[in-house]
Amino acid sequence: MRFIRYSFPALLAFIFFAGFAVAQNKKGKKQKEHPKKEFYSGAPIKALIVTGGCCHNYLYQTFAMGSGVQKVANVDFEVVNVGGRGTEAMIDLYDKADWAEPYDIVIHNECFANTAEPDYIRRITEAHRGGVPAVVVHCAMHSYRAAEVDDWREFLGVTSRRHEHQSNYPVKVELPDHPVMEGFPGDWVTPKDELYLIEKLWPNAKILATSVSEKDNSEHPVMWVNHFGGTPVVGTTYGHSDETFGNDVFIRFLARAIVWASGASGEETLAAGQ
Ligand SMILES: [Zn+2]
Repeated sequence: MRFIRYSFPALLAFIFFAGFAVAQNKKGKKQKEHPKKEFYSGAPIKALIVTGGCCHNYLYQTFAMGSGVQKVANVDFEVVNVGGRGTEAMIDLYDKADWAEPYDIVIHNECFANTAEPDYIRRITEAHRGGVPAVVVHCAMHSYRAAEVDDWREFLGVTSRRHEHQSNYPVKVELPDHPVMEGFPGDWVTPKDELYLIEKLWPNAKILATSVSEKDNSEHPVMWVNHFGGTPVVGTTYGHSDETFGNDVFIRFLARAIVWASGASGEETLAAGQ
């Protein structure tokens, strides 16, 4: 794993991840043989984590996600963690239209609610419409919330503008046969996390799991798949706390999401769930 762009605090994680990669390589055989992993052992999936912005511990989240996923799936991560800790940034990663091209999948875990410039947002979404799959996590759903254009929300598959209090929310699996939900427990309750209120599920999105508001009993998608112009996207609104990223069920969900959406599992990504 390597940080290709990072703010200063991320440097420590970079050193840690570099050590992690070396340790892994030493264990490997001389030939290019991939170690057997529970979910996926083929050629490494090239994944980019885009993270940073307001309100969450992105350094830890990135470490927990990267190291946790690598235990069960052969994924190489690059990380872009820039843009500060505020609610507004335009990061240079997205300067070029083909920014996503080197990757098999992009994990969006950034949080910039007040960035609203349509051309900037469309450079992000058009790279995905062009075929690069995505996994979208928690505050990605509130990123670009101030934008008048709907492109980002259509890409996500949901529209959300607010969330309820932190609690331990039971998660009801709605599509147990979907490959992303394989092995997901039927009685999982989140660590302390926020319930995002979903105003709209976009037409190409399918709900994988829901949770219920403790305030008014309304039901909200918390995990879903979307097809954005034919590109698979997997989303979850959970992922607020360090405890959630330290939770094995959550990390295994992210790992299955990455493997499935990237097409590495060999499972059909376009027809599944339709
Ligand atoms: Zn949060």
